[in-house]
Amino acid sequence: MEKFKEKIEIFIDDELCKGCDICVELCRPDVFIKSDKINSRGYYVPIPASMNKCTGCMICELICPELAVIIVKTESVKESV
Ligand code: SF4
Ligand code: SF4
Repeated sequence: MEKFKEKIEIFIDDELCKGCDICVELCRPDVFIKSDKINSRGYYVPIPASMNKCTGCMICELICPELAVIIVKTESVKESV
């Protein structure tokens, strides 16, 4: 049997990010981790490290005060069940 699953990608604009970690705190499945990656303004940019846990809820994109997070949902990918 085949099942279709939405493919979700997360893009963070490193230069817009101010390292507030709101996305890290509010993502319920804990997709993001704090990182030691520093942008040119000296802010620590989080990393979406556990993409397999992402539900595509869009919260991170909606709450980022710098509009640094973009969620892209692409065509469904086939999964064998
Ligand atoms: S909410 Fe936006 S500005 Fe804050 S850490 Fe996440 S990506 Fe950066
Ligand atoms: S879309 Fe939802 S589940 Fe996915 S990373 Fe953002 S807040 Fe977390």
